[in-house]
Amino acid sequence: MIKKFIRRVLRLDARSGHSLIPVSKHGVRREALSHGARKTCEVLQQAGHSAYVVGGAVRDLLLGVPPKDYDVATSALPEEVHKLFRRSRLIGRRFKLVHCMFGSETIEVSTFRAGDSSDTDEHGRVLRDNVYGSREEDAARRDFTVNAMYYDPHDESILDFHNGLRDLKKKTVRIIGDPGARFREDPVRMLRAARFAAKLEFKIDPATRAPIAEMAKLIENVPAARLFDEMLKLLLSGHAASCVRELREAGLHHGLLPMLDVILEQPMGERFVMLALGETDERVRAGKPVSPAFLFASLLWHEVLTAWTKEQQNARPVAALHLAMDAVLDKQTDKLAIPRRFTAMMKEIWLLQPRFEQRSGKRPFALLENERFRAGYDFLALRSASGECPQELTDWWERFQHASPDTREDMLKPAAPDERRPRRRRRPGRKPGGSSGSGDNGGAPPAAPAD
Ligand code: ATP
Ligand code: MG
Repeated sequence: MIKKFIRRVLRLDARSGHSLIPVSKHGVRREALSHGARKTCEVLQQAGHSAYVVGGAVRDLLLGVPPKDYDVATSALPEEVHKLFRRSRLIGRRFKLVHCMFGSETIEVSTFRAGDSSDTDEHGRVLRDNVYGSREEDAARRDFTVNAMYYDPHDESILDFHNGLRDLKKKTVRIIGDPGARFREDPVRMLRAARFAAKLEFKIDPATRAPIAEMAKLIENVPAARLFDEMLKLLLSGHAASCVRELREAGLHHGLLPMLDVILEQPMGERFVMLALGETDERVRAGKPVSPAFLFASLLWHEVLTAWTKEQQNARPVAALHLAMDAVLDKQTDKLAIPRRFTAMMKEIWLLQPRFEQRSGKRPFALLENERFRAGYDFLALRSASGECPQELTDWWERFQHASPDTREDMLKPAAPDERRPRRRRRPGRKPGGSSGSGDNGGAPPAAPAD
């Protein structure tokens, strides 16, 4: 009874505010929402809580783009939410969230909270943001105005405390509050600004953009795992190529992926990276699966190539490639924790590359059977498209993999002189075991990097 009364008062309060936008003004009907999002709000509201669809989903619905997923913000505490939904689970340690499941859909439900800037590190980065708060406080702690709108499926109104709808119409990414302070609290917001600008084809508001170049180095203080998650979101957004362009324009690429700036400054490296990102974007937009390992293997390839050339002064090609890969990956993990499950596959893709140069004897057949053949071949295709290795090589493999057994035999090249030499014993420095790509190709010709 009391809860119902409070709810009514809150509604009245919101209605009287200038921030309440009726459906006649914004046009998003509740039918546009997913089943899970509607159901979650309905159950919470019927239990006397306030509940709204928030964040990216509201923004995307307003733009007429189907939301990727839905977040719900509520006045109910996590434990209360959990009790209301049979198929739900409490997640998170520092700040508890609830995942409510509806078939294959998962709705993330968070309790209104306030940004607490009283607990920061020496750079001003917020360490604690786990204080429950009001709806207004919840809106104020969000990053951008277009991400801080609250949709109520019950009356189809939108609560907009920070002029998000105006900015959405102006195609502007504008941070809520003082840009410098908000980036200091959480430097990842700078990356997010670049990501949203690229993804939504918006401009970053000049005042929001102004402090970025100077504050870019604060990204170094972000824990590596978080940075990796955010980079992955950026790279798998379907707009990776324009995200990277946006990062460069904002002066943010330095120190993100160490050496990404160096790579982008080499014409050959830039071509390769941009081609890889462009193809990833096409796949994402076509709804095809993409492999983060393939993508990271592409981003770091020219770095590996440079190190490989150097290592070949002292080691045989495959041993040198192992040394080069390890050196590059070691450098990366300081900044960007690429999980082990990805680094293993990245190495496999790289290690297959010299094997594509062997087109005689049994080796091409063994390579076809390799479980990473497809990824390795796609990678080879990128290399030739960027001008790093001959197109003729990729074309040969394209024909070879689809040819009949007889044609395959005819296609084989005469063995190169060094392939006929007896195998030498393994040298120190060669890693034992290794991945499927590290097969016995001790006589691999050095794939001379073209730059
Ligand atoms: P996407 O469609 O890419 O998922 P999104 O806006 O939903 O975009 P999420 O990372 O899913 O982005 O975050 C959901 C919401 O949480 C955001 O819309 C924003 O309101 C808030 N948020 C996320 N990260 C931050 C942050 N670093 N600082 C402040 N608010 C944030
Ligand atoms: Mg989201």
